Amino acid sequence: VFTGYSILPLPSPSLKMERSIEGIDSCDRERGRERDGEIAPGDGTMASHDQKSLLQSETLYKYILETSVYPREPEALKELRQITAKHPRNAMAAASDQVQFLSMLLKLMNAKNTIEIGVFTGYSLLATALTLPEDGKIMAIDVNRNNYELGLPVIQKAGVAHKIDFREGLALTIIDELMGEEKYKGWFDFAFVDADKKNCLNYHQRLLELVRVGGVIGYDNTLWGGTVAALPEEQPLHGYSMEIRDATVELNKYLAADPRIEICHLSISDGLTLCRRLS
Ligand code: SAM
Ligand code: CA
Repeated sequence: VFTGYSILPLPSPSLKMERSIEGIDSCDRERGRERDGEIAPGDGTMASHDQKSLLQSETLYKYILETSVYPREPEALKELRQITAKHPRNAMAAASDQVQFLSMLLKLMNAKNTIEIGVFTGYSLLATALTLPEDGKIMAIDVNRNNYELGLPVIQKAGVAHKIDFREGLALTIIDELMGEEKYKGWFDFAFVDADKKNCLNYHQRLLELVRVGGVIGYDNTLWGGTVAALPEEQPLHGYSMEIRDATVELNKYLAADPRIEICHLSISDGLTLCRRLS
């Protein structure tokens, strides 16, 4: 029986689980805690954001990356992955297999207009920009432009910067502005939500108007290192991380019961929940 996709047995915290918890710093730089901060890679080795899979077997995960992900990774994405790996908060970036999955999903959907909440250095953003058609557009929102500017030269060199409309600021404020414009009702084919986890339900209510019927909203980190199912005893979660864990449990419960969407809760990376708008 192939069990490779089951998540770590819990409660049984491990370094891997700890690594997978990203949003501590994604959302609150003041209270946040630095990650264990392995600085990764040269070629062929994993960036630390590629070490946050919940797969039981690290060897198997490495196998997936080396067999099916890295050999097909666009040169620009690889370059940005390596730049991001040198960032002290590199664990915030999406994993390579996850962005490969998102790219395929966008192609299957024929997505043209997307919105991304939480950009960091632009790794998932670049994957999206490389995937969308020439006239596609991504509205990319982040409160911090500096990290985006680290990745921007790579995005420009890849010839996809014209697809990106970067908006600097608090996502909720920017989204509320979009809600006031008739043009944006049902405008987006896809939304990737990967910023302040405690606002996910606020984003959800609004994105259900901004994303078209049949479109998809993806929420990242919805397994929060496995802690949504059982709290680790040996490495207890602290303050803000615990608050995010609780917010994620709430989000998961809400999404599971929301009749306006069809959902699919994937165990890829740190958990990704896809919500297809039904009405
Ligand atoms: N999606 C990126 C990727 O996979 O490469 C990673 C995004 S990182 C996990 C989260 C980002 O959200 C950070 O860059 C942070 O500055 C941003 N962020 C956090 N809270 C925010 C807010 N309220 N509004 C806008 N951006 C926010
Ligand atoms: Ca994430």
